[in-house]
Amino acid sequence: MNAAAEIGVIGGSGLYALLEDAEEVEVSTPYGSPSDPITVADVGGRRVAFLPRHGRDHRYPPHKIPYRANLWALRALGVRQILAPCAVGGLRPELGPGTFVVPDQLIDRTSGRAQTFYDEGAVHVSFADPYCPNGRAVLLKARQADVEPVDGGAMVVIEGPRFSTRAESRWFTSIGGSVVNMTGHPEAVLARELALCYTAIALVTDLDAGVEGDHGVTQEEVFRVFGENTVRLRSVLLAAVTQLPTVRDCPCATALDGIKLPFDLP
Ligand SMILES: [Zn+2]
Repeated sequence: MNAAAEIGVIGGSGLYALLEDAEEVEVSTPYGSPSDPITVADVGGRRVAFLPRHGRDHRYPPHKIPYRANLWALRALGVRQILAPCAVGGLRPELGPGTFVVPDQLIDRTSGRAQTFYDEGAVHVSFADPYCPNGRAVLLKARQADVEPVDGGAMVVIEGPRFSTRAESRWFTSIGGSVVNMTGHPEAVLARELALCYTAIALVTDLDAGVEGDHGVTQEEVFRVFGENTVRLRSVLLAAVTQLPTVRDCPCATALDGIKLPFDLP
């Protein structure tokens, strides 16, 4: 069986497997091993690679995930378009548990993470629009039964692993945040640095700590709500991968044109 893939899905908390009849592939990278062996299978005529972001046994907390190895390994397998589901807290009352959001912006509040492949030379990618416009359009159209994703919003990414204080959560809302999570960065920028299309789809599991009268998020709540919505998320993802373009005409594909990289792309 051919291990190469063109589309990647990086599964978040609660989504540790996606594909059926999949081939497992071990990939090593200059940045170590990815979070888990990658599984590859056909989905509606497309070759899809799946990687559980935290490892299938959830051994990597958000700040310890080998983000660089994960993106490098997917690209090395041939992946050029990535769909990235994740669990998020809602920063606005209308974004309650069970809501899907396809964000269009990102606010980085992480610290101390390796967030670039470019450790030498002057290499600066454009990141004004962190997500692939084609991937976003596909996810917004890939409506399944009771799933109608919210179009747009800024995802605030915190360092974690603790959840936010009420003051932080209110502040994130005041600066324009719609949802908050712990893994959306540096994943998105590392994808851009490898000229990969990257599109997040966020599943709201809680109302974080900022919404008046709410009790403040707990880990138990996040995992329970994500588990309740895994079937909906899988159906959206599997529908979307078949609708991604076969030829990329988006800015992600040409993000590195004219830029001299300090290494050869895998
Ligand atoms: Zn793209």
